[in-house]
Amino acid sequence: MDSNASSDRQSGFDPAALREKYAAERAKRVRADGKAQYRKIAAEFSDFASDPHVETIIERAPLHDEVDVLVIGGGFSGLMTGARLRQAGVQSIRIVERGGDFGGTWYWNRYPGAACDIDSTIYMPMLEDIGDMPSRKYPPAPELQEHARKIARKYDLYRDAVFQAAVTAMVWDEVSERWKIHTNRGDVMTARYVVMGLGPLAQPKLPGIPGIETFKGKAFHTSRWDYGYTGGSAYGDLTKLSDKRVGIIGTGATAIQCLPHLAQSAQELFAFQRTPSSIDVRGDKLIDPEWWASLKPGWQRARMVNFTNLVNGTPQDVDLVNDGWTANFLDARDDQGGDVDPSQMANFRKMESLRQRISDVVEDPKTAEALKPWYNYFCKRPCFNDYYLQAFNRPNVHLVDTNGQGVERIDETGIWANGVHYPLDCIVFSTGFEVGTGFLSRSGFDVTGKHGVTLMEHWKEGVRTLHGMLVNGFPNCFMIGGIDHVGLNANHVHMLDEQTEYVADVIVNATDGLTKTFELTREAEQAYVDKIIYLSARNPMAPQNASFQQECTPGYYNNEGDLAGVPVQTGPYGGGPMAYFGELQSWRQAGGFPGLQTHKAP
Ligand code: NDP
Repeated sequence: MDSNASSDRQSGFDPAALREKYAAERAKRVRADGKAQYRKIAAEFSDFASDPHVETIIERAPLHDEVDVLVIGGGFSGLMTGARLRQAGVQSIRIVERGGDFGGTWYWNRYPGAACDIDSTIYMPMLEDIGDMPSRKYPPAPELQEHARKIARKYDLYRDAVFQAAVTAMVWDEVSERWKIHTNRGDVMTARYVVMGLGPLAQPKLPGIPGIETFKGKAFHTSRWDYGYTGGSAYGDLTKLSDKRVGIIGTGATAIQCLPHLAQSAQELFAFQRTPSSIDVRGDKLIDPEWWASLKPGWQRARMVNFTNLVNGTPQDVDLVNDGWTANFLDARDDQGGDVDPSQMANFRKMESLRQRISDVVEDPKTAEALKPWYNYFCKRPCFNDYYLQAFNRPNVHLVDTNGQGVERIDETGIWANGVHYPLDCIVFSTGFEVGTGFLSRSGFDVTGKHGVTLMEHWKEGVRTLHGMLVNGFPNCFMIGGIDHVGLNANHVHMLDEQTEYVADVIVNATDGLTKTFELTREAEQAYVDKIIYLSARNPMAPQNASFQQECTPGYYNNEGDLAGVPVQTGPYGGGPMAYFGELQSWRQAGGFPGLQTHKAP
């Protein structure tokens, strides 16, 4: 009691009361239908997933040729794989991409305000190789997509690329020891090695709100923004909305970025909120060319490592990136000795400061209260923005807080929430992407490995891999950039940097220069699965672990509050990202690629 009381005096909050409040807010939001509350974008909703950026459909004959390495996905993971392979001398590389160009996330997400919120010097891949200086700390989406194109041009990845083609099946041919890759364009391509870089958040999803199909106005998902309807661009100025009543459903990281632009342009904006995000200062600024010129070779990886360490609570002598993420490093040292876990105290303190920021910025006290998040930091994706909260001070912007219940229903003319009807011209679905719905649902194709066993069959008890990338029974194949069995990291590109080096190393060196077939042994796979299960029980305050997620409000981080619905072995690597990268490096340095069997390919 004494030590708790001293924590109270130091921090000005009551840990027990906060715990209760968090639990009560969580309880309001937990739903029996969990993930099933969402609707897949298919059938009558397929327009929501169509590509608004393609002007002409490429007409071509189906492909039946062979390449050495086929990469599925033209986002950062696919491009970095291609670049690393080119650096290692591989010539025959094909990237297959369903969009009309490279860019992945940054091809699809062009909504107004879309920008990275991880410092560009550690988020934009291969900056040292490309030699470009980002314009600012948080560049807008068009610059990020252009950077993707630059990687493709520098490493000649447009040469054999196939766009506007979605893979429909991938089958291992036991005789030729090659993969056959089928697409929706009638292609049946052959490849010795396949790398799947499908993206962790690639399949947009819609809420299963009753009546959603009946709305007669304009409706679209943020990842398929319709500028023909709104006017403007990724930089805002949505002039065609000046006489429109717009509703936006969702208040996650995407909505935080686009809402200020909708607020500026729409006649009236209604923001339908189920759970508020935590929103910290962003502090965007231009990059100083003099500072840029002073960076020494190897700087990008050094900054990535420094950032990842700090965000994961490992003190560093210097904070190289020095942004909201690293400042948010929950330094628990001040709270040693109390009854409450020091990390929990630090977490309470962080969230209290964010709640105070809302009171400081938002003028209407009722709106300010409704915008306050009541859960631990890292339960949901932390957000950083200097315009979102401010937008609620505008007279044309209305927060419709649903007290954790969400939108009730949609009809032909608008949205119902809290028993009130809001007539609308346009609904923007900022409702996120499929996560944890199973490989088949997210990728749109199954993979058939040795003896006709599919990946879905192999994983029927839960995910099985080595390092989240290699799978027994699926030779010459990698999955990269996923979230299962890897050390989850705020800077996803740091992980891609490590994984793509690993992939190129295996493809070039484990195969003696692309001449061998490789396969992960059953034993090596099982040992890694055992490690994932073991690590999942460590470090209860680490956001990557189930024990932390258990107490969080529902969301995609915790399988919509239904952790019991996910096998423990389908979790992330509980040791955190730096330990995970350490595993990858020591495995590569051990020599002989332990756990991989190889033999001369036909
Ligand atoms: P999210 O899944 O984070 O958010 C979806 C939103 O929709 C939530 O606010 C959710 O509420 C709400 N919602 C769902 N159903 C309903 C309903 N029936 N009624 C009312 N609200 C509903 O998707 P985002 O697209 O915002 O973000 C996805 C991820 O993309 C981020 O977490 C981040 O990783 C990434 N991202 C990264 C950016 C960057 O700068 N690097 C920028 C933008 C996104 P609830 O919380 O209650 O479930």
